Amino acid sequence: MTHDLAVVGLGIVGAAAVHAATRAGARVAGIDAGAAGAGTSSTSFAWLNACKKEPEHYHRLNAEGMAVHRELAAELGDDGGHHPGGSLEWTESVEEREPGVASVSAPVAGKDGSLLAAVSVSGPVERMSRHPGKNFGGAVAHCARSLSAALAAS
Ligand SMILES: Cc1cc2nc3c(=O)[nH]c(=O)nc-3n(C[C@H](O)[C@H](O)[C@H](O)COP(=O)(O)OP(=O)(O)OC[C@H]3O[C@@H](n4cnc5c(N)ncnc54)[C@H](O)[C@@H]3O)c2cc1C
Repeated sequence: MTHDLAVVGLGIVGAAAVHAATRAGARVAGIDAGAAGAGTSSTSFAWLNACKKEPEHYHRLNAEGMAVHRELAAELGDDGGHHPGGSLEWTESVEEREPGVASVSAPVAGKDGSLLAAVSVSGPVERMSRHPGKNFGGAVAHCARSLSAALAAS
């Protein structure tokens, strides 16, 4: 059998190349020194995101990649293994600005995704603990994301 193309290395990158070329009608030979998908791709956290990807064009590349993952998942159906996980983000501060004070903050995004404001809770370290993010990070991030979603929908 003859092939139009050989793809060497069948991690996520090679597998995606095989898929795209096959879909375009090419006869593709996929070659791997070991087992397909057993390299770095098998150790990934599999988190699809565009968070903290800078500069802007790198963020856009990642966001477009997420959109293509969604399209591929729709094409492959339930066996695709696509789990859009999302993320909750917060930052904590313990006596960084004021002695005895701890806080947790999360970003509120404007309609264009840029940083618009922050939701923050702060209080005495003995009440907030030295790990305030562990106690309040989820609630603060949830609140900030709700505000961001409301702004995006307005
Ligand atoms: C701990 C960890 C967590 C990560 N978490 C994330 C995450 O949450 N989200 C994310 O987007 N990315 C994550 N990444 C990064 C992501 O996993 C890699 O960028 C991606 O898997 C790389 O894919 P790849 O196809 O280039 O390489 P690989 O998956 O390593 O595939 C390369 C393949 O090439 C084969 N090969 C190598 N040399 C030859 C040769 N000479 N001949 C034939 N075959 C060869 C290997 O056997 C292997 O199968 C993470 C990485 C790590 C290590």
